[in-house]
Amino acid sequence: MSQEWRLHAVCRTTDPAMWDSPTYAPGSDIQADVARVRLALRFCAVCPVVAACNADAVATSPVSVVRAGRVYDADGQASRDCEHCGAAIVTRNRAMARHCSKSCRNAARYRAARQERLTAA
Ligand code: SF4
Ligand SMILES: [Zn+2]
Repeated sequence: MSQEWRLHAVCRTTDPAMWDSPTYAPGSDIQADVARVRLALRFCAVCPVVAACNADAVATSPVSVVRAGRVYDADGQASRDCEHCGAAIVTRNRAMARHCSKSCRNAARYRAARQERLTAA
């Protein structure tokens, strides 16, 4: 597979350390780590080669990095997408979480309650 797409990667000139996945290690600055990863994900959201990057990630099974809008853990597990907005879930309990943020969780609850009211009416 040609690697020419890398020339157009939005992350090409960024600090590689920006693309490490959060470790959630005791004593580490978890909030700063999560903020950094969310910023990296914003880069991916506007990257013109995200499809090629994703194909490369699927083929190479990256670990402990952010790639193509997903966060890959140390065991190669890719993050799940938020059920409300579709963004990658970047929280310590992301294996269980269904939403990427409190605001998405609240919005999903509001939408579900509204749907319930409409159905009951
Ligand atoms: S999708 Fe993200 S990780 Fe992939 S090349 Fe673009 S900015 Fe880099
Ligand atoms: Zn969300």
